[in-house]
Amino acid sequence: MAKKVLIIGTGLGALSTALRLTTQGYTDITMVEKYHQPGGRLNRIESDGFTFDMGPSFFSMSYEFKELFDSCKMENPLVYQKLEPLYRVNFANGKTFNIYTDLDKLAAEFEAIEPNFKAKVEKYLLDAKNVFHDTEGIIVKQNFSSKAHYLLQLTRVPIKHLPHVFKSMWTELENSFESNEVKVIFSLVAFFLGATPFDTPAVYKLLTYTELQHDGYWSVKGGMYRIVEVIYEELIKRGVKFQFNTEINGCVEEGKKVVAFTDTKGNKYDADVFVVNADAASFRGRILNRKKYNEERLSQNGMDSCAIYRIPWC
Ligand SMILES: Cc1cc2nc3c(=O)[nH]c(=O)nc-3n(C[C@H](O)[C@H](O)[C@H](O)COP(=O)(O)OP(=O)(O)OC[C@H]3O[C@@H](n4cnc5c(N)ncnc54)[C@H](O)[C@@H]3O)c2cc1C
Repeated sequence: MAKKVLIIGTGLGALSTALRLTTQGYTDITMVEKYHQPGGRLNRIESDGFTFDMGPSFFSMSYEFKELFDSCKMENPLVYQKLEPLYRVNFANGKTFNIYTDLDKLAAEFEAIEPNFKAKVEKYLLDAKNVFHDTEGIIVKQNFSSKAHYLLQLTRVPIKHLPHVFKSMWTELENSFESNEVKVIFSLVAFFLGATPFDTPAVYKLLTYTELQHDGYWSVKGGMYRIVEVIYEELIKRGVKFQFNTEINGCVEEGKKVVAFTDTKGNKYDADVFVVNADAASFRGRILNRKKYNEERLSQNGMDSCAIYRIPWC
């Protein structure tokens, strides 16, 4: 395949996209990255002989890595470790709770503060499970190319979940538990979305199901940065070219079509296919100069988080 590909960024999204493109036969791929090494938010610092993961400390849905490596015909050299307890929450008042996936052990943690915890959490998780499985295929894993497509898919979600879209995660927790600590702990998943439980729709309780019951949390032996290392090494073997310390800061358009990007040193990168791994809204505003994403709106609305919803017009 003769198509020339430029990928902007080397986060996990970009690295896995490059892996998929090489598998599909693309041979001319260049990746440009403003930082000095790959990984994006999944990164690493080394100091005084010690190594520290930056950003992610665990992941869920381990089967997604299997799917990636299998479909890209690559041995998976990573060794995963399942976490139990998942994590520990320390409150400023000195109270500490271990968060177990084993509901009996979890109930023992909250025995003194939440009467009838096990029955309550089972009810909460059953509802979260239904939300997850009723939306995973039609919403969570979909890439929406238009508003019409998004709305069409929404109509396929069972109507019983509609109230979850209109109430906040915190309201849902207030209706489900009495103890403030339990509510705070189950609301932590909202921060994964870069939001708070007060402005996150209750539908995201599905994340509590993914952590406590679905596939739990996993870490990687040798540190999370091993994920980046193994994919990066494979891409080098497959002939992908990397250019670090390179920040894209402009684009060249012909009519309404972007035909090239430029970096801060004045270099120009043309290609047949462009893949942008940078935060979606800020890239649209600052590099593609789309007025809808002006500085004022970007800073007011925290629009960078639109990237997580994978909604292109957002
Ligand atoms: C503190 C923290 C903790 C987290 N913990 C977890 C966790 O425990 N588990 C989990 O699953 N997730 C966690 N996450 C989220 C996870 O890190 C991200 O979802 C994931 O790494 C994002 O990958 P990405 O490829 O989408 O984007 P990014 O990693 O953001 O990659 C984007 C890349 O594009 C580059 N770039 C941007 N603009 C330009 C430009 N103009 N020119 C050139 N390069 C550019 C950036 O430098 C970056 O390398 C955490 C995130 C943070 C910040």
